[in-house]
Amino acid sequence: MDRIWAPWRMDYIKSSNKPGCVFCQKSQSKKDKKNLVLYRGVETYILMNLYPYTNGHLMIAPYLHTSDVNELTEIANKEIMQFARDCFNILKSKLGAEGFNFGANLGKVAGAGIDQHIHYHIVPRWGGDTNFMPVIADTKVMIEKLNNTWERLKPEFS
Ligand SMILES: [Zn+2]
Repeated sequence: MDRIWAPWRMDYIKSSNKPGCVFCQKSQSKKDKKNLVLYRGVETYILMNLYPYTNGHLMIAPYLHTSDVNELTEIANKEIMQFARDCFNILKSKLGAEGFNFGANLGKVAGAGIDQHIHYHIVPRWGGDTNFMPVIADTKVMIEKLNNTWERLKPEFS
């Protein structure tokens, strides 16, 4: 399997010792554009990953701060699957995604960066994307790109 090389994720690794939970902070904040939040459901919300593996890397997280899947309600579970489907459709039509990695890393041993608050990743994939990512491997360029992508995707979720 080819690996995606995403060097800006070093910033994430360096900044991950900050106190507080980013998923709780972003769900409670009103600054959706700054936080790259795309949509708010009844019990879950959709946001862009600030340290993406590919352009259009989205996440779905419950408002509830929990690491235990048993604590998610039926509504939350339903929304996660429905929102994932919506994300697939939007990423296909707006960014031309050809495939997706979808899932969650539960627990530190499974590779969860933030293991206290469940979140599901949706990583759009394109043929040859493992070769393409190093070209935009600059954090500043990445932030600009993230804002542009948010502007493009936001109307689709409204
Ligand atoms: Zn939280």
